[in-house]
Amino acid sequence: MTVWFFIDNKELLVFKRIEKNKCLTHLKIKKMKSRFILYLVSKSNNQWLSFQRFGNKKLFVCLLLVIAVFLMQCSSSDKNISDHSETGEVPQINEDIFEESWLEAKTGNMPLVISAPHGGEISPQEISNRACGTNSRDNNTAQLSLEIENVFNQYGKQPYLIVAQIARTKIDLNRDLSEATCGNSLMNTTWNRYHQYIEEALASAIKEFGYALYIDLHGQSHPVRRLELGYLLSKLDLKDNYDQTNPNATLAEKSSIKNLLELNGNLNFRELLIGENALGTLLQNAGFPSVPSLDDPFPQADDPYFNGGYNTRRYTSSDHPKVFGLQIEANFQGVRDSEENRKKFSEAFVQSIMNYLDFLDVQNN
Ligand SMILES: [Zn+2]
Repeated sequence: MTVWFFIDNKELLVFKRIEKNKCLTHLKIKKMKSRFILYLVSKSNNQWLSFQRFGNKKLFVCLLLVIAVFLMQCSSSDKNISDHSETGEVPQINEDIFEESWLEAKTGNMPLVISAPHGGEISPQEISNRACGTNSRDNNTAQLSLEIENVFNQYGKQPYLIVAQIARTKIDLNRDLSEATCGNSLMNTTWNRYHQYIEEALASAIKEFGYALYIDLHGQSHPVRRLELGYLLSKLDLKDNYDQTNPNATLAEKSSIKNLLELNGNLNFRELLIGENALGTLLQNAGFPSVPSLDDPFPQADDPYFNGGYNTRRYTSSDHPKVFGLQIEANFQGVRDSEENRKKFSEAFVQSIMNYLDFLDVQNN
């Protein structure tokens, strides 16, 4: 049973307040077991305010009484409501469901913003599973991002962090809104809030340091065990980069580091992908094979490879001229499969990032 509360058209306000009441949260969970929809209508704000003055137990009893009274009256009391019931329509609720615990956002003190959209495990029953796209979890990537944070902290540094704790089965936070929610408007606030956190993190880093390195952290299970660094370049693009069959500028323009080349004109695009100081090479040298890198400059044609998704495209576009970055798809074994390996990887990652930022030498301008 779903209960919609309408009080002088202030249904959203009241619905939110009800969500925060433990007694009624219980009622809300129970109600999901039936498809019956109850419309509860009160005539004035005063009635709701008078509920508030009761304790939780009294409020609960009072609501049960109101529901009972309403059930007796509903056949004749409100034309609009009975119209809805007859047509089977659910009235539009403009506010959706959001819990702070679904997203974790931390402010940083360095020009690094890390998001981890696919590692969440919170799976609220009242939200139906996504019926489009892919629902698989990037196992342990939320923990991995927090371990990376721990290691940075040992150096007195704190990256900006935006970690989804809500499961991908409920929302995909690396897709545009329609695919992220598969049209379930209950999840709109979660999506908006997640991206608001990233936007705010980037703006804060840029204000402080003049630029931001953005990393969208994921997990993959492809046969070749290595980190896949996604710069929005295809396998063929990466091969062209290695063979130098395509002018640097053409590839650079479509890549997720094009803004970096504007920020520091001395950097060489090809070297940034497969040179001595490319991030992939630094990670490779720290014990974590990566593609592209000096030793592994491009995936073979039949190798599955992720080259970057919605978040990487969005936040490294010309709309964010002071941001550059990449998607990192971490393999499971040896990287994120155990606490010990997450620690090992995080050590290597933090060292590599610090060396990378030193090499990039982007001046605060
Ligand atoms: Zn992912």
